[in-house]
Amino acid sequence: MERRRGHLFIISGPSGAGKSTLRKKLLERFPDLVYSVSYTTRLPRPGEREGWDYRFVDEDKFRKLLREGKFLEWAQVHGNLYGTNREDVEKALEDGCDVILEIDVQGASQVKKQMPESVLIFVMPPSETALEERLLSRGSEAPEAIKVRLDNAQKEIASAATYDHIIVNDDINKAVDKLASIIAQYRKHER
Ligand code: 5GP
Repeated sequence: MERRRGHLFIISGPSGAGKSTLRKKLLERFPDLVYSVSYTTRLPRPGEREGWDYRFVDEDKFRKLLREGKFLEWAQVHGNLYGTNREDVEKALEDGCDVILEIDVQGASQVKKQMPESVLIFVMPPSETALEERLLSRGSEAPEAIKVRLDNAQKEIASAATYDHIIVNDDINKAVDKLASIIAQYRKHER
């Protein structure tokens, strides 16, 4: 019998919208979802772990991987480079696993072109003020970096209309429920 190909779910949204928290809570509910850990040239934040949060590389290494065609998609975001490992994603999907990516809007549109069946989910902050408050309270970025992230938020929100689903994250538990129901809805169709 032919094995079912996995679904590819892509989560995007402005910095501070709560994407990582949502994704982590989602993985607790669906432990069989495969999260593809991205490469980045950004420096680790306190508490971030190599191979868990990101694969932290310098720019030379990133550009080498890019030349070798290792990325399914890549983009420059807030001044750093980020990319998704092509082989990890393709192998998991072929093995029938559902995969989740947490990437920016530029990367999501690159993947959607290559894999039109992928499901794009946009996480929207409840307001601009809430976004600013979250970025400030996180305390992980310098004021200048926060400004860059807030400026970029406007552009990212403008892309939300191209997404298959939009989740407003005004209550983390409700947002996880919504996200989980979207995932379950796609899985239900062929199980
Ligand atoms: P952060 O530096 O806050 O972890 O991530 C900054 C932005 O980069 C977020 O919007 C995040 O979703 C995005 N990002 C993380 N990994 C990737 C990736 O592999 N590709 C792309 N295009 N964006 C990514």
